[in-house]
Amino acid sequence: PGFFDGVTLAPSDPILGVNEAYLADEFPGKISLGVGAYRTEKGLPYVLPVVKRVEQQIWEDPRANHEYLPIDGLPVFQRLATELIFGPDCAAISDGRIVTVQTLSGSGALRIGLTFVARYYADASSLPPIYIPSPTWNNHRDIVPDAGLGEARTFRYLDAKSGGVDMPGLLADLSDAPVGAIVILHGCAHNPTGADPTLAEWRDIVSLVRERRLIPFFDVAYQGFASGDLDTDAGSVRLFADAGVDMLLSLSFAKNMGLYGERIGSLSVVLSEHTVNVPATAKAVRSQLKAVIRPMYSSPPAHGARIVAGVLGDATNFAAWKEELAGMASRIGDMRTALKAALDANGAPGDWTRIVKQQGMFSYTGLSAAHVAYLRSKYHIYMTSDGRVSMAGLTTSTVQRVADAIKDAVE
Ligand code: PMP
Repeated sequence: PGFFDGVTLAPSDPILGVNEAYLADEFPGKISLGVGAYRTEKGLPYVLPVVKRVEQQIWEDPRANHEYLPIDGLPVFQRLATELIFGPDCAAISDGRIVTVQTLSGSGALRIGLTFVARYYADASSLPPIYIPSPTWNNHRDIVPDAGLGEARTFRYLDAKSGGVDMPGLLADLSDAPVGAIVILHGCAHNPTGADPTLAEWRDIVSLVRERRLIPFFDVAYQGFASGDLDTDAGSVRLFADAGVDMLLSLSFAKNMGLYGERIGSLSVVLSEHTVNVPATAKAVRSQLKAVIRPMYSSPPAHGARIVAGVLGDATNFAAWKEELAGMASRIGDMRTALKAALDANGAPGDWTRIVKQQGMFSYTGLSAAHVAYLRSKYHIYMTSDGRVSMAGLTTSTVQRVADAIKDAVE
């Protein structure tokens, strides 16, 4: 036998596996509501006009080249990404309490951040537990053990009945978490549920985090996609930053700039107000993050960082981006309204209010795995088995067909 004969098949990814099945389907009218990628009204991938313009501008500079970036990425990108999420007036920024490195999109930021945490607790017996919401983006559950932190624990998040956040459950579970536990929180547009705490509810979470001395790890993959406004969607994160707590944050530009395949994002480590020696600690943290990155992939790719810096660092481009982003969020909002209206009109049994209450890219419809399988086999409509619908996959011309198929499935 060959050396690799004993390799067994790994389970296919629950989200990307849906897309593989969709691609293999030869039915012409198939509909993809699986992967969380924005689609135009024609159902096509969208390259933001401002991104195209910046890509041209990059090569108009005669000094442009393909040299390596530093281990922690493009410095101007680090600064602009930090200001975008924390806000330019953030005290933690002016105090020098935020250390940001460029990463391979949001996934890479989560992995680098959690690996850094695992190394910081070199004594395995003292590793902090990592809490993830139930449900959450599947990759959270997989990244935590791969970073060397053991199995993640879950805290209650979804109120299945209303489709909103189960605040009493969330607060109860996090009250039981030990001091120093790391809690992964979605900054906005929670995936897969589309349900976010209100600002008042976030304040309750801040109080609990301070009281229990928990360490939030914010995952922000949809800034601007929830409300259509970048600052509104950063509201949760800024509450925590203003509270002066220790925290980590991963940021992704995959969705809000449509840069999925460019793998551009950032990891920020925020030192709390209690940090005794800020400059020395910030310097040490950066050095440790670089020590995680160097043996993993040496340094990040340059192109995406230059695009983001070109958009964020120029007033005209920034204004254009905000408009294009609001346009994407608004088309998704229209699809929510249209799907709910079509389900109400065709009399599909159930209360579909959650579709318009939830925000961001997804709706957690409440459809069961059996419904999802039925929709796939009878109607060639693809979504993840938990009933999550990527709203951006809908168009004016498919929404009625989807609503009628859902009615048939639930009846
Ligand atoms: N976190 C969440 C909750 C997500 O939904 C995603 C994208 N599906 C990510 C992080 C990261 O994606 P990426 O690595 O493409 O930035």
